[in-house]
Amino acid sequence: MIKDNLSAIYSELPSAVKLVAVSKFHPVAELQEAYAAGQRLFGENRPQELAAKVPQLPDDIQWHFIGHLQTNKLKLVLPYAALVESVDSVHLLEAVDRWGRENGRIIPILLELHLGAEESKQGLTEAEIRQVLARDWPGVSIRGLMGMATHTEDETLIRADFARISALQQSLRQQYPGLTELSIGMSGDWRIALEYGATLVRIGTAIFGPRPLSR
Ligand SMILES: *Cc1c(COP(=O)(O)O)cnc(C)c1O
Repeated sequence: MIKDNLSAIYSELPSAVKLVAVSKFHPVAELQEAYAAGQRLFGENRPQELAAKVPQLPDDIQWHFIGHLQTNKLKLVLPYAALVESVDSVHLLEAVDRWGRENGRIIPILLELHLGAEESKQGLTEAEIRQVLARDWPGVSIRGLMGMATHTEDETLIRADFARISALQQSLRQQYPGLTELSIGMSGDWRIALEYGATLVRIGTAIFGPRPLSR
């Protein structure tokens, strides 16, 4: 049951770490179940799905956007997202910044670091992140880093990814004290992510079960 899954996770989660309940592909009724159990922070990765779910659920929910965002979909996401965790290119960052300025908003975001070996994975390189931070972005507030570890059973590789993003965040934070967030860890690896200083964990399957329509 969703409620039991949530309480099992919360019983192990340090109180300073926020749990993003990743509800993508799951019907509104299941989000309502999580809401009834006290969950207020949800993560979605598809713009249309987010925009469709928001009006069907209570307005004290905080939504994090965690998927790839195309610049022509900003208006489906930016009005609703409390945090865009997945800013994965300079092009997207420029578009979000422009949208923020044009709409009189400062959009909270995380920069997604490219982790893992898979070619298809989105994300900024370490060099791009340093260049981005050296620029002024009046329409966004950069709160930290997000990363997805290599999809593997090999814990050594997962730990190497988490160690890399964690070291980068700590080093950047000395220069940019506002970079307080580190979003790492999913259903399979969130306990490991805690060892590397995760402040946000993004958990879907371990709360809601397998995704009904995925792939
Ligand atoms: C789907 C997704 C998750 C959650 O994955 P689970 O393995 O179901 O916990 C976390 N982060 C991102 C970016 C995702 O797309």
